[in-house]
Amino acid sequence: VIGVMASFEAFLPLPAALEHLDADREAGKRIFDIIDAEPEVATPENPLKPGADHTIGFHNVSFSYPGSRRKALDQVSFTLEHGRKTAIVGPSGAGKSTIAALLHRFYNPTEGTITLGGIDIMNLDPDDVRNHVGTVSQRTYLFARTIRENLLIGNPQADDEELKRALEEAGLETFSDKLDQWAGQHGMQLSGGERQRLSLARALLHDAPVLILDEATANLDTITEKAIMENMMAFGNRKTLVAITHRLYGMEAFDRILVLKNGHIAEQGSHSELMARGGLYAAMWNLQHRNQLDSGS
Ligand code: ADP
Ligand code: MG
Repeated sequence: VIGVMASFEAFLPLPAALEHLDADREAGKRIFDIIDAEPEVATPENPLKPGADHTIGFHNVSFSYPGSRRKALDQVSFTLEHGRKTAIVGPSGAGKSTIAALLHRFYNPTEGTITLGGIDIMNLDPDDVRNHVGTVSQRTYLFARTIRENLLIGNPQADDEELKRALEEAGLETFSDKLDQWAGQHGMQLSGGERQRLSLARALLHDAPVLILDEATANLDTITEKAIMENMMAFGNRKTLVAITHRLYGMEAFDRILVLKNGHIAEQGSHSELMARGGLYAAMWNLQHRNQLDSGS
């Protein structure tokens, strides 16, 4: 179960780190509640090993959550080429987070296939998949331990220099001299934004080739969000980046934008292509940016 718990945020491998962390009861309980709610996904008997190609493909993927007849995803196809930067946008409930959940094999598609480097992920060990795909979501898991120990979950071998660099990339350089302070109860009271950035720093230390940020900067002010996204863009073609967001900021920086609506891809293209098209994306963008002007921010 430790493996599953750890992989929920895709920070594997970390069993050893977690064992000695001896997760505090409250955080542990919350994680187990969530794990209990997730259906089991079987490990194949003779799993294949993923290769150096980290291209992800969704091929006519449809999915309904267990017990639901509604299609959360409906015939979704796209490719995330290695090293490219993609944004997945769309209204709340469109199916954005479901894409991440399927990629992590929390569920299997009802129809269609998902491939990693051309291999159907059903033929891979789920732990290998989660090692290749790191996700930072709005749910953050911190333990009542030091900042350092919370970071080391991402990579137990990391030295302090690496911890500090990750904090800096995640926009939390102010924590560089607080590595030995305790987080959570009886320690530093962390804001939602600080927790998210700590969670991001941990994912950066884990250094999976594919990084999915699922509304991971949603609790941050726009200046901090912008700075972090610039750091993520600086990965260049070293990492495949997928930013899932309902807030349309900095979209010009992405190679491609997938616009999701009611479980299907309504549009895709670059920011300028989608604006020129004058469809759903353009309407969403205009609405959000007009609101921003109205509120004077
Ligand atoms: P988004 O991330 O775009 O807001 P989601 O992928 O979370 O959307 O949700 C897509 C659809 O699936 C929504 O209708 C949502 O209510 C439903 N859904 C999400 N998670 C679950 C779940 N665990 N069980 C049942 N339905 C779910
Ligand atoms: Mg979501």
